[in-house]
Amino acid sequence: MRQKKEYSGIDRREFLRVGLAGTTSVLFGWEGLADAMQIAASESFVFPAPVYRVLGRTGLKITIVSFGAMLTPEPEVMAIAFDRGVNYVDTARRYMGGKNEEIVARALKGKRDRVYVATKIAPASRSKEAIFKDVETSLKALETDYVDIIQLHNVTGREDRIFNPEIRETLVRLKEQGKVRFFGVTSHTNEAEVLNALAEDKDRFFDTALVKYNFKSSQETKEAIARAARADIGVIAMKTQAGGYTTGALGPFSPHQAALKWALQDKHVTAAIPGMRNITELREDISVMGMRFGYLDKLILKRYGTAVAPYYCHLCGQCEATCPQGTAISNINRSLMYAEAYRSPALARSTYREIPLSLSASACLDCSDCVAKCVNGLDIPAKMRRARKLLA
Ligand code: SF4
Ligand code: SF4
Repeated sequence: MRQKKEYSGIDRREFLRVGLAGTTSVLFGWEGLADAMQIAASESFVFPAPVYRVLGRTGLKITIVSFGAMLTPEPEVMAIAFDRGVNYVDTARRYMGGKNEEIVARALKGKRDRVYVATKIAPASRSKEAIFKDVETSLKALETDYVDIIQLHNVTGREDRIFNPEIRETLVRLKEQGKVRFFGVTSHTNEAEVLNALAEDKDRFFDTALVKYNFKSSQETKEAIARAARADIGVIAMKTQAGGYTTGALGPFSPHQAALKWALQDKHVTAAIPGMRNITELREDISVMGMRFGYLDKLILKRYGTAVAPYYCHLCGQCEATCPQGTAISNINRSLMYAEAYRSPALARSTYREIPLSLSASACLDCSDCVAKCVNGLDIPAKMRRARKLLA
């Protein structure tokens, strides 16, 4: 196994003081500009020295806090991060109603050689033709000749695409054509099984895994991450905030830094990709580089975890076997989380629309009494009603 190392951009802990007037361009959108001006008026903007870890067998050294682009409307926010050393960005075309890759392309102008780009193949794209088309469309939207990591989006288990020969042949062909460099998968549900399948694969086909991982994750997931890392698969954490719900339970404290630190204290995780909407969120998340998970973080997460327990869905999918209709409860709850916690109605609706109608929350209308059981005590009928109200 490759020795895991942590790299810092400079030897001594040193901070770069960045006046916002000196940032990358004049193309701020209104929201980004207002946000930037507010910060500039209140204090100087401080970035930590970037900290890097190696992404498994890819050998790429990426910043431990990298950029999840899915919620970022302003390319300038990403561009600022790239200029200060953040060197990995994760996107997918379907985010922001199909516009997210184009926003990333604008942020990458003049910086493509310094930033690793990861995007995704839609879950429905399984044939050679569909995958080629997906990748070509992504390359065009991203205005690049290649992506560093191409990921099968939302893999739900061992039998879902991982060992599909047509998909593998197509990915190899894309690599031979120089259009992709490494292969990955992403998983929100059943991530332990997905990681174990990758680790056990004798062909060592997939190089990376982007998985849901946060302080609410199970021991099984933690162990699967360690196993995947020992197999030299680069593991990246997403959904590190357990929803990132707003709660008054913490007074002036935000749980975001504590949650990020929790994920990154696991040295089997190469990086996390928090979604950062604006400069305030960028600053909050990026500051975590070089920080340790401490006692106060532990207290914050305990209190936050208790506050969100009545509505945070672990997306484990265990309830689905108890529903006679096989309703896609975890994906419905994920869509709901995008609407309620991420405050991204477009992402929520596009995620919900991917669920077949017969497995959506509308299926519950034929049920007189809900018999589905949540292992974490969530009120499933209430969640399904809420999903119908907001998303159907
Ligand atoms: S009401 Fe409950 S048991 Fe009926 S379809 Fe919906 S989730 Fe399943
Ligand atoms: S509702 Fe409960 S059992 Fe179902 S996916 Fe969410 S946490 Fe798991």
